[in-house]
Amino acid sequence: MLASALLPTYPPPRLGFVEGDGVWLTGSDGRRYLDFAAGIAVVSLGHRHPEPLAAAHAQLDRLWHTSNLYATDPALALASALSERFGGARAFFCNSGAEANEAALKYARKATGKPGVLALEGSFHGRTLGSLAVTGQPAKRAGFEPLGPARFAQPNDVASLHAAAAADDIGLVLLEPVLGEGGVIPLEPSFVAAAAKLAAELGALLAFDEVQTGIGRTGTFFAWEQLGVRPQLLTLAKALANGLPIGCLLVADDAPDAFEPGHHGSTFGGNPVSCAAAVAVCNAITDELLASVHTHGALLRDGLAALPGVTEVRGAGLLLGAVLDRPAQPVVDAALDAGLVCLTAGANVLRLAPPLVVGTHEIDLALEILTEVMNG
Ligand SMILES: *Cc1c(COP(=O)(O)O)cnc(C)c1O
Repeated sequence: MLASALLPTYPPPRLGFVEGDGVWLTGSDGRRYLDFAAGIAVVSLGHRHPEPLAAAHAQLDRLWHTSNLYATDPALALASALSERFGGARAFFCNSGAEANEAALKYARKATGKPGVLALEGSFHGRTLGSLAVTGQPAKRAGFEPLGPARFAQPNDVASLHAAAAADDIGLVLLEPVLGEGGVIPLEPSFVAAAAKLAAELGALLAFDEVQTGIGRTGTFFAWEQLGVRPQLLTLAKALANGLPIGCLLVADDAPDAFEPGHHGSTFGGNPVSCAAAVAVCNAITDELLASVHTHGALLRDGLAALPGVTEVRGAGLLLGAVLDRPAQPVVDAALDAGLVCLTAGANVLRLAPPLVVGTHEIDLALEILTEVMNG
């Protein structure tokens, strides 16, 4: 009977949660659960991390909202922090990943005058009509077509990239550095380099959707740092405020100008409480934490590869997908019953995205539970 007054856009939940602490959740059944989903790669510093918590509390006591007709310190501070990490960019703030991608779609169309978008099969960019139009998953698009002009190439297949670019209206090339929802598929640096070259030849902008990969998830602040290609547009959301709603479009300083007052906006975008938390999150993503994402990611990856029923492990940092010899959803359900929260990414892929602060002991516990479930 949980959530009976909600529209059924999600399957009926098996469980509710009432409290979180670090890598642990407390269920409405009173049990403790190890959280290797982090609210879908959102609560990256763990539940109730003291720094964003204190920053949000302080801002809640000071000022909640002004609209974007007026400046607030947290939004300006966050834009500077992100610009510095990026190496020179300006920010537009909104409230979700889909909204961040909508802003990127509008920006590219304004800058180039061309409506077409080249994206990848299996990609996920959001559920609004614009972001859905560039999401390369037929099941998610079904029932909502016609959608705006998009062409889809196969991830890591340069020939299909060139075939999809034959259309002459491409104003944006949009890539996830690691396809998250689509099966945890990392893009190869050579493919990304080819996409960047192609975008330049087409007179299109290159955008990375780092809604899932950004803010340290893959072991660098942005995933592009490991690919050697810095995009002109970059979108962020999930982990940026450790669970408070926020989205962001970053536009590199060397990208063409497009937006002027009146071209885009958001009432709640840049909310001071979310931005204050996000500044604290950025400060908490230290070199030390990023190094531990690499070491703990490698540990989890090796452990997953040794599980029964796992045929391949892929991903980067602490965004990992274990390809199973069986459907993933029953495994996720059984793991939950055994006290571990995890995710799927497509039919046969078990996706793990624990908080970046996860420790060796918790990784061992999770692997123990998964071993039991896979043997079960
Ligand atoms: C989750 C996700 C989105 C959509 O974000 P919402 O906040 O749900 O709108 C977009 N792109 C990627 C890569 C995502 O993982």
